Amino acid sequence: MTKIAIVDSGVDTPEEILMAADITPVRFLGDPSLNITKANEHVPPNHCIWARNLLERALNGLDADIKGLITTHGCDCTNREFDIWLECVDLDFMYFLNAPLKRDKAAIKFFVNDMKELINQIESKFNVKITPDKITEAIKLTNKIRNLLKEISEYRSKMILKGSEFHELVKKVQQEDKKQMLIVLESKLEELKTKKPFPEKMKRILLTGSVIDDTEFIKNLETLGLQVVIDDLCIGTRYFWDSIEEKADPIKALSKYHLTKPIYSTKIPSLQRFDNLKEFAEKYEVDGVLNVAQKFCEPILYDHPHISKEFKALNMPYLFVEIEYSRESFKQLATRFEAFAEIIGGK
Ligand code: SF4
Repeated sequence: MTKIAIVDSGVDTPEEILMAADITPVRFLGDPSLNITKANEHVPPNHCIWARNLLERALNGLDADIKGLITTHGCDCTNREFDIWLECVDLDFMYFLNAPLKRDKAAIKFFVNDMKELINQIESKFNVKITPDKITEAIKLTNKIRNLLKEISEYRSKMILKGSEFHELVKKVQQEDKKQMLIVLESKLEELKTKKPFPEKMKRILLTGSVIDDTEFIKNLETLGLQVVIDDLCIGTRYFWDSIEEKADPIKALSKYHLTKPIYSTKIPSLQRFDNLKEFAEKYEVDGVLNVAQKFCEPILYDHPHISKEFKALNMPYLFVEIEYSRESFKQLATRFEAFAEIIGGK
């Protein structure tokens, strides 16, 4: 099956449009073992470390089965990198999807129009027909997947499923064929129903911040006794928390879904992200909140003072860290995480 890579600083790409064309959407992720050299020739050293890693990967050459790329409007770093991809990466199909930053009625209409243009371009490039019925069919499938992920996610809070295992699962769903992943998720849920909570006592953490695509980061937290029971990340709840209307016009429904789901720091007004975090912190009775920014991630750096102040007012332990995109850096942070694990409660 044809694959199209998705470069998205958030999680705002309507995968269902690709699925309706029998194309597999594959979220393009970083590689923490990569040495950044070529990307540094195109972007300055204070450009987001994660986005720079993606660019390096692309400049090294994409997998042969990737036939195109969609970059979805998010932060300045991924937006600007699209211009470099156009110049330096050898792909026949590249599209910049203009997902609006605002979330009002005009924005919903604007996004509908840009999705229609994306459909036109895919149809003409890949010689396919993307009908409303096919999009609705894809929406029904992704809704099933979202519902399953939401149900499975609860087993993190019940201390039955490790946060790292769940993170791997969401990542796979974003990268592999959705029909196959539906089967994987159904069987995972059945397996979880038979399991008991793990014996060790762990502190309950809400994880927020930039995109985190290296599961090793979460595994490191677990070795220090911190379990991510809930998150508001793009490879996490922001991908599956809400569902898409199935009976409405499918393109409008997609636009509405993406512009009304829990807000990310790249959107306006980003400070509203705290409202969702507060709700999660209370509902999941977390012991502390961990906000992780990829180095030079401006949207997260901008939101952090507000989030910090608000959690302080609630007496909720809060730790902010900036990470290099490398496993060595995760190890260096162990002392700070250990200290955090010691000072926070434990229910
Ligand atoms: S980590 Fe931050 S700066 Fe980097 S791509 Fe994501 S939102 Fe943009």
